[in-house]
Amino acid sequence: MIIDFHTHIFPPEWCARREPYLDCDRWFCTLYSDPQARMATAEDLIGTMDRAGVDKAVAFGFAWADEGLCREHNAYVLDAVRRYQGRLVGFAVAQPLTGHQAIADVEWCLDRGLRGVGELMPDGQGYTWDDDDVQVFVQSIAQRGVPLLTHSNEGPGHTYPGKGNVGPAMLHRLAQRYPNLTLVSAHWGGGLAFYELMPEVRAACANVYYDTAASVYLYDDAVYRVAEQCAPGKALWGSDYPLVRPERYLKRIRALGLAPDVEAALLGGTAARLLRLEETADV
Ligand SMILES: [Zn+2]
Repeated sequence: MIIDFHTHIFPPEWCARREPYLDCDRWFCTLYSDPQARMATAEDLIGTMDRAGVDKAVAFGFAWADEGLCREHNAYVLDAVRRYQGRLVGFAVAQPLTGHQAIADVEWCLDRGLRGVGELMPDGQGYTWDDDDVQVFVQSIAQRGVPLLTHSNEGPGHTYPGKGNVGPAMLHRLAQRYPNLTLVSAHWGGGLAFYELMPEVRAACANVYYDTAASVYLYDDAVYRVAEQCAPGKALWGSDYPLVRPERYLKRIRALGLAPDVEAALLGGTAARLLRLEETADV
């Protein structure tokens, strides 16, 4: 089974007219003010999955600074999950700084069929994972037992819109604080995956997974073999659609000649286990 763990979808009206949202969210403006920056609907995503031979995708909105916009966006994702049952696994976005409001909104979504939280963007939303203000929110996700997917970024290297400051050290502290939290650290955890060669980091990160979103823009393809050595069985293939087209990604990964079991785990096996797909017939 091929599962794309990292895709963003928007309501068609927002794709058709993004200007009002550029004005009201600084981070959205950073990422989407360029008209070339693609936005996609659930229909676009399903069409792309069909062409690329992707069975299921984890789909989510954009982590707005405003909780009201997060709520609206989640409603769209929930509707898309219902329309494309069996194809989309929805995650909810939220503004953790709103504390109990964000918790209530996420609970509402999870009770209706969404399966996780993310991709949250601390820099865009105005917090770090170390902040006292967001701990009650993280704790509630850990207790609920669903994955939390956070944007992460490398310290070194080129800058890009939306890069931010969610580095390996901060993510390691988050994992230490919540050992039971299933943390999905996007973009290889900004390199946290490679620090799992340190025994104490590996121990603290027992429930941390790494998605490969946008890897084609960040790393040499050798990254897949290296990550498998550093953090075996913890990579989740994610494209970051519509930023990257899944077919491009799949072609490159399949050309690497990874061991068949490693490739199968990367492209969907680990995701299916994490999302507990075998326990539920509906997704
Ligand atoms: Zn990201």
